Amino acid sequence: MSSAPATGAAPFNQQGTLSDEARVEAAMRSFVREFGVTASLHMESCVRCGQCAEACPFHIATGEARYTPVYRLELFRRAYFREASPFAPLVRALGLVKPPTIAELQQWQELIYDSCTMCGRCTLVCPMGIDIAELVKEARHGMFKAGLIPERLALMDRAAQQWGSTATPGEDLPDIVREVAEAHGVEIPCDLASAEVLVTAAPAELGDHTKALAAAAKVLNRAGVKWTMHQSGFDAANIGFNNGDLELQERLTRSLVDTAVKIGARTVLLPECGHAYGAARWEAAKWYGKGLPVRIIHMTEFLDEMIAAGRIKVKAIGQSATFHDPCQIVRRGGLEAAARRVVAALGFELIELKDHGVAGHCCGGGGGVVSNARATPLRHKVFDLKRAQVEATGARHFVTACGQCRITLEQGAKHAHWDMPVESLLELVADNLAD
Ligand code: SF4
Ligand code: SF4
Repeated sequence: MSSAPATGAAPFNQQGTLSDEARVEAAMRSFVREFGVTASLHMESCVRCGQCAEACPFHIATGEARYTPVYRLELFRRAYFREASPFAPLVRALGLVKPPTIAELQQWQELIYDSCTMCGRCTLVCPMGIDIAELVKEARHGMFKAGLIPERLALMDRAAQQWGSTATPGEDLPDIVREVAEAHGVEIPCDLASAEVLVTAAPAELGDHTKALAAAAKVLNRAGVKWTMHQSGFDAANIGFNNGDLELQERLTRSLVDTAVKIGARTVLLPECGHAYGAARWEAAKWYGKGLPVRIIHMTEFLDEMIAAGRIKVKAIGQSATFHDPCQIVRRGGLEAAARRVVAALGFELIELKDHGVAGHCCGGGGGVVSNARATPLRHKVFDLKRAQVEATGARHFVTACGQCRITLEQGAKHAHWDMPVESLLELVADNLAD
C-alpha cells in the first residue's frame, strides 16, 4: 500500500496495513534498540556548532535549513531523550520532550531518504566525531520497521526478498553471463566448483551496463586469476543498507561470504559500486558474527594490486583528467591513494577538483537517492555543485570508480545538457591493457 502526501507537505509513502499508532510504536522500538553506547554518545555530544551544515551537499545546494544534518536527525534525537537518555523517566514524566507523531514520521521520510546519501561529509568535519551518516542508517532501520520508506526502495526490497538478489534471480545468472560474454567477446566463468576469487556484480552490470562486467572479466583473465561468478552469491547488493532493511542486507551479504567459503575462494571482489563496499566490506564482519574467513575488496583495490604486482600493464593515455571520489570507497573506505595510483598508471595528468579525496562532494545519488525518482530535482541541484568543480579544472577526462556515481552523474549531465562523458576507471584500464 502506498499513500500520497497532503498538498504542500513533503512527499512520503507507506507500506503495509499497520495503524498509525503501530507505525509510531514500531519506529520507536527500533530506535531504542539502536541506541547503544556509540549512538548514545553521539546523541549526547553535539555542541550545535553547525559545521556539519556547511559540509552537507544538500544544504549547500539548496540553502534550506531543513537540510542541515542536525535538523535531519531531530526526531531521532527526541526519541533518544525520551526513551534512552539517563534522564528519560524524568523527561517523560515532566513531558519535556514530546514523542514523534505519525505526521512527523511521514514528513521525516524526505529528510532521511530523499536528501541524504549517507555520504559522511558531515561526519568528517564534526569536531565531536559524531557519525551522522551512521545515525541516518539507524534511523532508516526504524522507518523501515514502521513501513515508512520511499515506495521505489520498498519495491526493490520485495524483489530482493523474493529472489535473494536485487534484480536478477540466481538461476538466471548463467544465461545472462553467457550473453554478456558473447556480446563482448570475453570469457566469464560461472558456477565453477572452486576458484581463488568470487566475483560479484552490481545490478546494473547485469542489465544496462554490461560493459563494466566485461571489463572486469578482461582484467581478471589478463591477470591470470582463477575466478568465477556464482549463482548462489553474485549480487553486490546494498538495498537493505540503503532502505533500512538491515536484516535483508545481512542475508544478502552473508550469501556472498558463504558462497566464497563453499568454493574455497579467499577473496570476494566487489564491483565499482560504493554502497556495496560499505555493506559488504565494513558491515559484513558485524553481521557474520565473527572474523570474516575471506577478504572482501573493491575493484579499485584489485586494479591497484594487479598493477603494482606487474600482473597487468596499462598503456598511458597521456591527457588531463579529473577524478570524482566516490564517498563510500574514499571518505568511508580509505581508497583515495589506491584510486590515484591507478589514475597515474593510466598516464593521466590529474587535475584535482576543488573538493576532492576524503573531502570530495557526493554525486548526490548514493544511499538509494538515485533510485528514488521523487528526489530527482534535489539530486540535480547537488549535481550542479559537481559540474561547476569539474568545469573549473578544464580536464579532458572525468573519471570515477563507482558505477552508481557514474549513473547519477550521467543523469545529471543529461538533465543539464552537459556533454562531458563520465568514464569508469575499470573500463579505462580494461580498454588500455598493454601486452
Ligand atoms: S551524510 Fe552526507 S548527505 Fe547525509 S547529512 Fe551528512 S553530509 Fe548531508
Ligand atoms: S558538526 Fe557535530 S557537533 Fe557540530 S552541529 Fe554538527 S553534529 Fe553537532
